[in-house]
Amino acid sequence: MAYEAVIGLECHIQLRTRTKMFCECPAEFGAAANSNVCPVCLGLPGALPVTNGAAIDFALRLGLALGCDVRGQSVFARKNYFYPDMPKNYQITQYDQPLCEGGALPVTVEGAARTFALTRIHAEEDTGKSFHPERHGDRRVSLVDFNRAGVPLLELVTEPVLRQPSECFAFLTALRRLVRYLEISDGDMEKGQLRCDANVSVRPVGQQAFGTKTEIKNLNSIRAVEKGLEAEIRRQTELVQSGGKVEQATLLYDADHDKLAVMRSKEYAHDYRYFPEPDLPVLRLTPAWIEDARGRLPELPWTRMDRFTERYGLPVYDAGVLTDQRELADYYEAVAALVDAKKASNWVMGEALRHVKAQNLAMTEWATRVPAAHLAKIIAAVEGGTVTAAGGKTILETIAASGQDPTPLFAAHAVTSSSEDLLPLVRAVIEENPGPVSQYLGGKAATLGFLVGQVMKKSGGKAVPQVVQELLKSELAARAPSA
Ligand SMILES: [Zn+2]
Repeated sequence: MAYEAVIGLECHIQLRTRTKMFCECPAEFGAAANSNVCPVCLGLPGALPVTNGAAIDFALRLGLALGCDVRGQSVFARKNYFYPDMPKNYQITQYDQPLCEGGALPVTVEGAARTFALTRIHAEEDTGKSFHPERHGDRRVSLVDFNRAGVPLLELVTEPVLRQPSECFAFLTALRRLVRYLEISDGDMEKGQLRCDANVSVRPVGQQAFGTKTEIKNLNSIRAVEKGLEAEIRRQTELVQSGGKVEQATLLYDADHDKLAVMRSKEYAHDYRYFPEPDLPVLRLTPAWIEDARGRLPELPWTRMDRFTERYGLPVYDAGVLTDQRELADYYEAVAALVDAKKASNWVMGEALRHVKAQNLAMTEWATRVPAAHLAKIIAAVEGGTVTAAGGKTILETIAASGQDPTPLFAAHAVTSSSEDLLPLVRAVIEENPGPVSQYLGGKAATLGFLVGQVMKKSGGKAVPQVVQELLKSELAARAPSA
């Protein structure tokens, strides 16, 4: 019997706000342990939370970009549970009245345009971070850092609409690109700015009812999500095929060893005893705020990708690469405004991105060193036939290091087409190659190509082949024995 997987993702997006969700502590990454804390985020008695308006605005922008229904009135709730890295013993989150519901993320999966439906997006606060065990001599101790406690998070939950681990890979890549376009998060999974838990079950193809699901937690890269799901789908399929039953459980995936381990088995859903947060008012978004946020949305990555294929006539692949980052797409458009769009795409995707990757530069750093106008000058010189292709690449390399205007460098790499400059080279090649010359004069016309090649080499690749060919022909004709 054939089986298929049913997958739902639960993503946490850490927001790039200056301060935390309910207090004014900085929300920065990498500060000294327990330095960004206050009575509110430490849960001290009597401290009162105040909602961060910027975080709500970020949530609103994500919801609008994804076409969600935005709730004008949403409610914060307490989710009660004990964990050492959570000083209040409850997390402020949203429960039955979240900020956003519905919506969908457009994703390109293996070249095809798809959309994956969302259940909800809600705002909440992050927990602190435990480190254990740490060794201090012969003692093993656990440490906790509350800097992250209270950092703004969005939880985005998909419907169980994903079937393949490769779809999840494409989904998370598209989500990361979107939060970066919206400038609401850096979306770096290695730094925990984007986190993903995956729910997965298997069922016979054609069956409507879901199988028993397991949840894979702590997946810390997009590749780990894909690999972890592949391993779990394999395990569940083998289990049910051999007559076994999947037990509901929370699993951890060890990417280094491609292994799953049971973290805890759970027979029932946790009872978190949710209730409305008594210290916060109902969150009200006015229609004016919502419309204002809609007006501030940038062109979204999928819209931009479509526009690149239509307006510039680029292949889908090129459009996908160039719209992967907003800064890259901006740079490309600035170059394409000055030279042929397809040539601009070849140079930006080829030479420019090669340098950016080799030197591990941010796109903004590259654009400062080589402004679009400078790259366009090089492309125009090469395409116009005044600078050789190899020369253009060398010039780009030079200005990528120096940041100068490329124009003064053109002369050193200029194409040579003047007979005056080329004639001495042509004559030298004739002198140095008596064998091929007599072959040519004896009627073997193909030898001319070899002689052209020798002149090109002598010119350092700067000669125009057509000019060289004409010069060779007339010089050789003068030497032909008269009939
Ligand atoms: Zn605080």
